[in-house]
Amino acid sequence: MRFSFKPLFKEGSFDLLRIRPVRALLLWHGFPYVFQALMLAMFVLLIALGWGVSAPDGVSDKLYAKTNLVTLLVWGIWWPLMVWLAVLLGRVWCMVCPLELVSNLSERLGRWLGIRQFEPGKWLLSGGLILIFYFSIQMLIAGAHLHRVPGYTAIFLIFLIATAIVTGLFFKHRAYCRGFCTVGLLLNVYGRGGMLAVRPESRQVCDDCSEKWCVNAENRHKLDARSCPTLLVPKALDSSKDCLVCTQCIKSCQPDNMQLQLRTPYYSHDTRYPVTSWPMLLFIMLLSGFVVYELCTEWSVTKNIFLWPVKMVTAEIGYPALGGWIKGVWTLMIFPLLLWTFLGTVTLLMKGAPSLIQAWRQLALPMVVVIAAGHMAKGIAKFTSWGGFLPGAIHEPSGVETIKALTSGADVVPASLLGMPFVAAVSLTLVLMATLFSVREAKLVDADTYRAQIPSILMLAGLFGFIISGWF
Ligand code: SF4
Ligand code: SF4
Ligand code: SF4
Repeated sequence: MRFSFKPLFKEGSFDLLRIRPVRALLLWHGFPYVFQALMLAMFVLLIALGWGVSAPDGVSDKLYAKTNLVTLLVWGIWWPLMVWLAVLLGRVWCMVCPLELVSNLSERLGRWLGIRQFEPGKWLLSGGLILIFYFSIQMLIAGAHLHRVPGYTAIFLIFLIATAIVTGLFFKHRAYCRGFCTVGLLLNVYGRGGMLAVRPESRQVCDDCSEKWCVNAENRHKLDARSCPTLLVPKALDSSKDCLVCTQCIKSCQPDNMQLQLRTPYYSHDTRYPVTSWPMLLFIMLLSGFVVYELCTEWSVTKNIFLWPVKMVTAEIGYPALGGWIKGVWTLMIFPLLLWTFLGTVTLLMKGAPSLIQAWRQLALPMVVVIAAGHMAKGIAKFTSWGGFLPGAIHEPSGVETIKALTSGADVVPASLLGMPFVAAVSLTLVLMATLFSVREAKLVDADTYRAQIPSILMLAGLFGFIISGWF
């Protein structure tokens, strides 16, 4: 008898709840709270370990960041892993995120204390504040080496927890996730094509459902099996951009009509949006500059070319301490503006948009697929060079003895986990695949005009490919 996957993969998707242990885990009352609590304990431990710690005198903070457990775990492993997970599996990190637990608890506390709680306004929901937060973090990374100093990283984690508490107290309906979370826009734009998605199985069952447990306001403040705390309408879900995969609607749906689907990447039946909002567009532009810079740093030739204007301006000003901040402005603002002006003009010349701004807004979401692939490429390069330090950092979390041994020559720097040619080959494959998906995304939005966007998409992918070719 021939076995066929077709009945399992109906229209390119498979309901993971058909696997009994997965179903038992996801429907368990302790899920995801126990996992969130464990992650919160990890955050608190990292804060305690990093508090007040900085690189010993005379030691490069760049190398020290790899030997200290806090900076290594947060910036060398968690951050790149989040990018990979978002692209592959959507907002799966949100499933176990400790900050959602903190804001959930403080929202309940605020309600219990009788504090007046506000609905987040339109501007907050558009991601405007998240854009400012993300930009500020990237500037602090460039200018103050937030990612290389364990003490700063501890303050950063405290800031995340504190904002989750304060916004939980004064806002309602999961406001922290919807309008304040630093990585909210990143997960939104990268997670859209992820292979994990919460969707209803049958529209008919939902139409016939009189109770509507998944949206019923009476269920919203229960401890578990709540109606969607994000105020989404689960029965009408057609995109993964806002769904936190918290499984509450799955638990609350008594007709058992919600699924956790494993699907083909960039699922064709999902809704596409022809133009991006302004905060999203600016975020994607900023991200493109950051990713280009990050890719360039792996090859001295491109690194020198990219940073040449920064060196010139810094030398002209005559104040080297400003170099990092100037690099931040160049990477996150000026370079992206130049890049997008060029790419947008190409689309304009191809008659793909009536104006430059319109070209940007049309290009942004298809193009983010390529940007995400570049980000993943940098992630794997970073993990490869940082990962070898993990056993030493677990053995000695402060990393002080390790860095002393390394700088005195008593020990050797751990080898990269993977050879750079292999990393480059994987990265080029990623960019190639992303280019195909990106063109497909543009076509799914508008089959008549997508051809005009192809040259811009190819140019960005070509730029990434050229930089990565130098890693061999
Ligand atoms: S949106 Fe942010 S805070 Fe909310 S669950 Fe996701 S990562 Fe955590
Ligand atoms: S998802 Fe479930 S609870 Fe919600 S409308 Fe459909 S059947 Fe009813
Ligand atoms: S749609 Fe369901 S899984 Fe998604 S955020 Fe709402 S309750 Fe959670």
